[in-house]
Amino acid sequence: MNAYDVLVVGGGPAGSTAAAVLAMHGRRVLLLEKDKFPRFHVGESLMPYCYFPLERVGLAEKMKASHFPKKYSVQFVTQDGKMPHPFYFFQHFDHAASTTWQVVRGEFDHMLLENARAKGAEVLEETRAQEFLREGGAVCGVKAVAKSGEALEFRAPLTIDASGRDALGINRNRWRVSDPALKKIALWTYYKGALRDPGMDEAATTVAFLPQKQWFWYIPLPDDLVSVGVVAEHDYLFRDTRDPAAIFDREAACNPWIARHLAPGRRIQVPGFPEGPFYVTSEWSYRSAQCAADGLVLAGDALGFLDPVFSSGVFLALKGGELAADAVHAALGAGDVSAARFAAYGEQVRRGMESMRKLVYAFYDEAFSMRELILRYPKLKGDVTDCLIGNLFRDFTELFTAVGEFARLPEPAVPGKA
Ligand SMILES: Cc1cc2nc3c(=O)[nH]c(=O)nc-3n(C[C@H](O)[C@H](O)[C@H](O)COP(=O)(O)OP(=O)(O)OC[C@H]3O[C@@H](n4cnc5c(N)ncnc54)[C@H](O)[C@@H]3O)c2cc1C
Repeated sequence: MNAYDVLVVGGGPAGSTAAAVLAMHGRRVLLLEKDKFPRFHVGESLMPYCYFPLERVGLAEKMKASHFPKKYSVQFVTQDGKMPHPFYFFQHFDHAASTTWQVVRGEFDHMLLENARAKGAEVLEETRAQEFLREGGAVCGVKAVAKSGEALEFRAPLTIDASGRDALGINRNRWRVSDPALKKIALWTYYKGALRDPGMDEAATTVAFLPQKQWFWYIPLPDDLVSVGVVAEHDYLFRDTRDPAAIFDREAACNPWIARHLAPGRRIQVPGFPEGPFYVTSEWSYRSAQCAADGLVLAGDALGFLDPVFSSGVFLALKGGELAADAVHAALGAGDVSAARFAAYGEQVRRGMESMRKLVYAFYDEAFSMRELILRYPKLKGDVTDCLIGNLFRDFTELFTAVGEFARLPEPAVPGKA
């Protein structure tokens, strides 16, 4: 007897969206989350197209009324601290979605999880999925452990793995495909009282360059906080010390815009944020060789992670969770939970991620300049815009043929796989 139609592992943006959509379809859903929410998470800058999955699960109005700073633009600052004009989303896309947000992920993810509950999904926090249960090779449930140590088993014809970078499905099935060309490290921290630009630019995401296309992010958050981090190659970052404060200060001094913005602020240990004030993430870019097995579907970072430069991670998680939920609902309706049933889902997500991957490759190529691309091919500005706002699920052949004249692009991923 299956107590549930679907199990979801992980309550981040992918898992909570998938659970909410499935509950809205009338499915019996159980979501297992290893942590107690709200919990700390990096990834604070949203992309405009996040609006659509948030609207689908009934959260667009709540976001508009929230205290999260409104993000109207992204701006790129040169190595010598000069800022070309910000890139305002509303100039290219006349829709409510062109205003997006900088979020405290603990709060944002908690809101998504509570929303899934309110829609009818059952949620068990502090419950860690350990293994997939299998019957005749197909996944038929999850073996989990509660905080108390109690061993638990849950059964359902389909499981969505949305376990983020823990990547339960990838690890258990040995599906990890790393991307050595995007092997970066991030070192980040939080400031209070750092400078904010005036007016509409107050909560812009800033990407500030360092030598060899290493870069800083600068993301204004509520309560006068700023999330600020450096993304670079390992050997560049750790070239003369392993002390995070010394590395951060050395790099911040290299870009006059970052140095000027941080000068009035102070580095802080944010209450409720564990382990800080510095955080480091490596094990960078990867994807899964498969998007599904019989009885199992992967979504969000559990399916793959690219790079934070264009703030695509949360969007791909929200949208991937939504698409996975619709595919799972249809599969249950058809009585077919085989991996083959999810080929179209995998292909759609793969195409979106591959477009973003190409843009990320171009970003890191020293021969590539967005300005030169648009000067040579002005009509491609709209295509670039579509990538930057998240309108990813369309054909970009013309754009990437042109980008290929300036930058080395990745080998195509295998169609039908992630
Ligand atoms: C340095 C850095 C900066 C980033 N900046 C941005 C940014 O500015 N904008 C952006 O859009 N994206 C950014 N990202 C990416 C973004 O953080 C992720 O893409 C996004 O969080 C993915 O959502 P998810 O739901 O797939 O996974 P997660 O948000 O990681 O959620 C997964 C959940 O699963 C739970 N879990 C894991 N294992 C288990 C288990 N075995 N059992 C039960 N629960 C489990 C975890 O506790 C977690 O709550 C950044 C990433 C990095 C590394």
